[in-house]
Amino acid sequence: MNKPGRLPIVPDPFRGEALSSWLTRLAARYDLRANDILHHVGVGQSAYRDLDWLTVPHVDRALAQATGISTSRIAGMRYGVEDGWLWDRPGRVWCRACLQADLLAGEESWERRSWRSGATVLCSQHRQLLEETCPVCHQIGTGCLFRAYRGRIRSRCIARDRPVALRNDETLSVLPLGLRLTGITVKAIDALQRDLHRSLRGHMPHGRWCGVTHPRDLPVLVEDFLRMVVPTLGLQLQVAPPLRWMLRHSDWQDLFVFTPAMLPLEVAAGVLAIAALILADPGWTGELAGQIDWAPAGRGKKREAFSPESFLQWLHPGIADWGRCRLEALVMRNRIKGTFSH
Ligand SMILES: [Zn+2]
Ligand SMILES: [Zn+2]
Repeated sequence: MNKPGRLPIVPDPFRGEALSSWLTRLAARYDLRANDILHHVGVGQSAYRDLDWLTVPHVDRALAQATGISTSRIAGMRYGVEDGWLWDRPGRVWCRACLQADLLAGEESWERRSWRSGATVLCSQHRQLLEETCPVCHQIGTGCLFRAYRGRIRSRCIARDRPVALRNDETLSVLPLGLRLTGITVKAIDALQRDLHRSLRGHMPHGRWCGVTHPRDLPVLVEDFLRMVVPTLGLQLQVAPPLRWMLRHSDWQDLFVFTPAMLPLEVAAGVLAIAALILADPGWTGELAGQIDWAPAGRGKKREAFSPESFLQWLHPGIADWGRCRLEALVMRNRIKGTFSH
C-alpha cells in the first residue's frame, strides 16, 4: 500500500490537549470523523478515543508522517498508560469557563487531556466542578458541546442542532452529602487530582498520602473509597468496562474494578473529596481538623463536622467493618494517633 501523503491542513495541538481531541479537530477540517482519519493514514484498526490510553508506536509514526507533528508531541497528548485504562471516562466533560475562554480567544472547543480521566472532577484553573450534562438538551454522553460544524469543533447541542450559550451563573458548588466546594476542599481535591494523574502515568505522587508507597497505591485507595461510598449512597453501577480493554484481557472479570470514571460526575466529585480529605498527610489532617462539615443524612439535613470517624459511622453496615479495617490499616502505617475511636 502506498503511504498517504502529508495532509494539507493540520491544526496545531493546544497545550494540554488530549490526543483524541486533536484527532477530532483534524478530522473536522476534512468533514470526517476521527476514526476516518486513522483509516486515511493506514491505521484504521485503532479506535481514536482508546489512543488516549494505549501506546501504539506505529499509529504515532503514521500520524506524524501524515501531519508533520512529531511522535513525541503526539505521545505527549496521551493521557495515561494502559494499566490505568479503567479510569478512561467514556463520555465528554467540560469546564464551562474553559470553553468560554476558547470561544473568546476565537478558538474551537477542545478537550483538555485531564478531562479524559475519572481522576478529574474540577477545573484547577477556574476552581469549579466539571460538567457532563448538555445545558440545552439535558442529556449526558451525546457529544454535545464538541460538535464538528463547518470545519471546526463548536459548542453546539447535537440533539437540537444549535449553539450552546454557556453562562457562569449555573455552576455547581455543592457535592453529594452536603460537602461544599470551599477553598480548602478545592485545594484537597486539586492536590489529589494532580497526584492521581501522575500515578495513572506510572509516576510517584508529589504529595504525601496515607498508605501510598507505590504509584499504583493512590488509584487503588480511591477505588476503595468508591467501594465504600457508592453502596452507602444506594447507587447501583453497571459493569461496563471499555470494550477493547475487555478484549485484551481474557481474565477481565478478575481485573475489573469500578473507578470514578464510571460514576456520575457529581458522585465522583464526592468520592474524590472524601478520599482527599481522609488520605491527606498529617499536615493536612491538622489543617483540616474541624474546618470541614457535611450532611451525611443528605442535603438540607443536620450538618456535622467531617472526620474519618464520622465517615466510618456513616458507612452502610454491610461495608462498615471492611471500611474500618481498611482505614485503620492506613492510619497505623502512618502513625497518626487519636483520629479513630471505636
Ligand atoms: Zn476551566
Ligand atoms: Zn445537547
